[in-house]
Amino acid sequence: MHEVKYIRPKSLADAVQIYRTTPGCRPLAGGTDLMVMLHARTLRPEPRAVLDLWSLAELKGVLRAGDILEIGAAESYTRIIASRDVQRHLPALAAASRTIGAAQIQNRGTLGGNLANASPAGDTLPVLLAYDAVVVTDRRSIPIDKFFTGYRRTALQSHELITAVRFPLGRRVAFRKVGTRAAQAISKIVMAVSRNPARIAIGSVAEVPLRARRAEVALERNDADGAITAVAEDIRPIDDVRSTAAYRRAVTQNVLRELLDAFARS
Ligand SMILES: Cc1cc2nc3c(=O)[nH]c(=O)nc-3n(C[C@H](O)[C@H](O)[C@H](O)COP(=O)(O)OP(=O)(O)OC[C@H]3O[C@@H](n4cnc5c(N)ncnc54)[C@H](O)[C@@H]3O)c2cc1C
Repeated sequence: MHEVKYIRPKSLADAVQIYRTTPGCRPLAGGTDLMVMLHARTLRPEPRAVLDLWSLAELKGVLRAGDILEIGAAESYTRIIASRDVQRHLPALAAASRTIGAAQIQNRGTLGGNLANASPAGDTLPVLLAYDAVVVTDRRSIPIDKFFTGYRRTALQSHELITAVRFPLGRRVAFRKVGTRAAQAISKIVMAVSRNPARIAIGSVAEVPLRARRAEVALERNDADGAITAVAEDIRPIDDVRSTAAYRRAVTQNVLRELLDAFARS
């Protein structure tokens, strides 16, 4: 690995200032994506410095404010899973966090990192879409359905830091991930569904984590069969090392049926 300067800011204000003024600087949260990319030298341009956000108190914590739950961008999955507020109000986020990697990755991986990395297979991302979460940065709030702009591309501007994610409370969301194994598996498909309002959000079936808009329209009309037919039109799966497009299409429809049946039974 080439030499990369390590910078540890004292506060969020300090981090914002350093990020804006240090050429070739890259934020580092848990490092579970970034360290892999640094070692593989796949980042272009190659970072000359990393800005360690991990210990910033302003980016930690799960805070309840009225009918909003706010989770710090650098809060780890382990702490998200352990949060009583998350268990009670956002069980689908706890469920998604439990499927990420294994314990070591959950101890270090963060929501902010999953968002900024913007993998179409990021497991929390459909959950955020189904909750209509809002991404808070050092300068603005971005509705999650405006956040993913292309393959691994986001609405973040240059030198913009994610500080938190806000979730509205009072919504029931169901989550399901299909991978090769129960742990340490990248999803073949990953889905989060809300019945009211109708939200069907799916990962690993297109270049971005997407909302299945045609299927949502059918679900809004209480037409579950129509939603299951329509979802095949909403997705754009490909063949890759983890799965085939045909498998993903079939499993997307099966998982949607399973989640809608579970809503109907409860
Ligand atoms: C073995 C292994 C298994 C994994 N399994 C899964 C899995 O099952 N599901 C899954 O979704 N992911 C998985 N991952 C990927 C990774 O763990 C997650 O994407 C994690 O959420 C990344 O968070 P992080 O804090 O480690 O990010 P980092 O690696 O620190 O950063 C990732 C990217 O986000 C940027 N960034 C980080 N924080 C901020 C911020 N606050 N503002 C702006 N930019 C920021 C960084 O510059 C970098 O580009 C796995 C990774 C490994 C190595």
